[in-house]
Amino acid sequence: MFYNLGMDDIGRLKLLTDQMHLEPAEDQRPACFTPKQKKETFVHPAKLPNGKNIKLLKTLLTSACERDCYYCPFRSGRDFRRATFKPEEFASLFINLHRAGAAEGIFLSSGVAGGGIRTQDKLLDTADILRNKMGFRGYIHLKVMPGAEKEQVERAMQLADRISVNLEAPNSERLTKLAPHKVFVDELLRPLKWVDEIRRSQPAYKGWNGRWPSTVTQYVVGGADESDLELLTTTSWLHENVHLGRAYFSAFSPIRDTPLENKAPTNPVREHRLYQASFLLRDYGFDLEELPFIENGNLPLSTDPKIAWAQVNLSEYPLEINQAEKSQLLRVPGIGLKGVNAILRARRTGKLRDLSMLKKLGVIAERAAPYLLLDGQRAPTQMALF
Ligand code: SF4
Repeated sequence: MFYNLGMDDIGRLKLLTDQMHLEPAEDQRPACFTPKQKKETFVHPAKLPNGKNIKLLKTLLTSACERDCYYCPFRSGRDFRRATFKPEEFASLFINLHRAGAAEGIFLSSGVAGGGIRTQDKLLDTADILRNKMGFRGYIHLKVMPGAEKEQVERAMQLADRISVNLEAPNSERLTKLAPHKVFVDELLRPLKWVDEIRRSQPAYKGWNGRWPSTVTQYVVGGADESDLELLTTTSWLHENVHLGRAYFSAFSPIRDTPLENKAPTNPVREHRLYQASFLLRDYGFDLEELPFIENGNLPLSTDPKIAWAQVNLSEYPLEINQAEKSQLLRVPGIGLKGVNAILRARRTGKLRDLSMLKKLGVIAERAAPYLLLDGQRAPTQMALF
């Protein structure tokens, strides 16, 4: 016995969690895992939106799927051992793991079996049992299935801390290259709009833990030959129009025995640049037009997009750190959100005159130096060694 689970439970859980490293969720620490470990780990260390680190069980309720998305290891007709849990079975299994201290939260997804509505009901039933029968108060991230109804989306919002609707591609045309039977607007974009409508129509409703859940989406980067510009255009629209919490970018990786098995994998650096750019759009006040796209509509792989922007816009006209506005400081490489606030606080009590003072405020001083004046002086580009 392992955490009070039977061998059958362990076997099924292994099958259901096997490919979940392909699905990013929360802020995982992928560097902790070797590919071998990824396959063998049920529970992933993950950082929640509130900054808390937890052990997150990432799994499917069933790996049976009637859809045939070209990139997916669970697509219908692919020959591999599938597994399924019923909602009550899975809720019991998880609560055992939770009580044994092995898992603190859950990311629950599913293959589509018997239609999106029926599959969504099973995910909702599982979360409902955990919350209302077993009294689980921890973190739940629930997937919204393609084809789910508005009432189901609202129920998911009442049970979960986070819900996700994976767009997979930035628009209808690109989605047909990845998932010919998913309908971009009706099945994927509409639920994201419903979430926002529900939030706005019931501002007083506070969700199970005091607030509505955040909403996220995911793209398979490079699977449909889409550009970064397309991905970030859609992401920017989602941030502005449906208050998306964040987008996850998952570099395409070919899976044996799928229609895209011979397609080249996407360079993981592209995924990293997309995350950097999406945070510039969401948190740092950048507009899409300001990002340094190259001719093919992608971001340069070799340079952090914030540095690329600063090299063009701040090298000749560095910012005076003691006078720059918050919106200007946010654009300086090496200064993050916390660093900007720390600078603004420190300026109330005196002038910032050297890089070591910035370093104490959480700034990556060497990176910021070329773009700053410190009390009228160009900052040295290398810190003095003491
Ligand atoms: S619907 Fe989901 S599980 Fe099924 S093939 Fe598509 S991506 Fe895979």
